[in-house]
Amino acid sequence: MKTLFDRISEIRVLRNEPLSKYTSFHIGGNADYVIKVYSQQALKNVLRIIRKQHMKYFVIGAGTNILVHNSGFRGVVIKLVGSFKDMHKRGDYFYCGSGLLLDAFLEKAHRRGYGGAEFLAGIPGTVGGGIKGNAGAFGYSLADVIENITIMTENGQERNLDRQKVGFHYRGSRIKNGSIIIGAQFKLLKRKKSDIRAAIERNVKRRWRRQPTGYSAGSFFKNPPGYSAGRLIEECGLKGLRIGDAEVSRKHGNFIVNRGHATASDVLRLARKIKKIVREKTGIRLKEEVKILK
Ligand SMILES: Cc1cc2nc3c(=O)[nH]c(=O)nc-3n(C[C@H](O)[C@H](O)[C@H](O)COP(=O)(O)OP(=O)(O)OC[C@H]3O[C@@H](n4cnc5c(N)ncnc54)[C@H](O)[C@@H]3O)c2cc1C
Repeated sequence: MKTLFDRISEIRVLRNEPLSKYTSFHIGGNADYVIKVYSQQALKNVLRIIRKQHMKYFVIGAGTNILVHNSGFRGVVIKLVGSFKDMHKRGDYFYCGSGLLLDAFLEKAHRRGYGGAEFLAGIPGTVGGGIKGNAGAFGYSLADVIENITIMTENGQERNLDRQKVGFHYRGSRIKNGSIIIGAQFKLLKRKKSDIRAAIERNVKRRWRRQPTGYSAGSFFKNPPGYSAGRLIEECGLKGLRIGDAEVSRKHGNFIVNRGHATASDVLRLARKIKKIVREKTGIRLKEEVKILK
């Protein structure tokens, strides 16, 4: 089938593609286009057509922090693959493409005897998604190990931003929605490989003791200052609360789990109910950590 993007090389175009295949919630209707982009030149070319056609677009990483409506997305979903998964050492720094999974990044650094980012072990997202939301765990976040990042603007221009300009804050950054993170420089530390391996394994174990398995997008709400969202939800007696196939995990109050056939509206109705009850019982207003794709 012919598409607007036929003349561009180093991409793969999928039309009417179900986004449920690309999200850890396993929820989401079709996107007009999912385009897998293999190189920076190809990304520039795709953005040029998108601009010309006035299309909406959105970058997806591993889809582990988003909820997509069942009506899908009228526009282009860009997935960075190919050279966006490269990683190499540049002097004292590691340059890493934004499409690489965080666990793969840790493994590659470990193989060379570099560590310092093991707190990320087991977070299922990509470097790009992680930077956008300043992913972290156990009191640390990506902001602690990143020196600078490279983005491509909506106009196809590349820009380097040092860490101050990225504007990292708790589970967020100031990177504009149209900007695409293409890579980042990390400052890691030379360490004994056995120590790095032990830290990765320890963190993964800690994580699986606390987290439910099953389809979810991780913590649904941000921790309000001074509180744990999971504990507040648990103390309000909401574990196990269910709407359709969306359920508050019985293991961790801040995880909403898709028990099989949950729709985005099941999840959103459940989230609204949680927020209402927590507000009424504690006076605290929960805010979503998960990005809702409209
Ligand atoms: C079981 C489980 C456990 C989790 N545990 C944690 C945890 O401990 N700590 C934590 O912080 N998070 C956790 N998460 C949430 C999630 O893994 C992280 O937020 C992760 O960083 C999201 O990355 P992603 O690639 O999946 O991003 P996506 O979900 O694909 O996208 C998230 C946002 O980032 C944007 N984005 C993605 N890639 C790019 C790019 N290249 N350029 C610009 N914007 C981009 C998207 O447009 C979207 O707005 C967990 C999730 C699950 C399912």
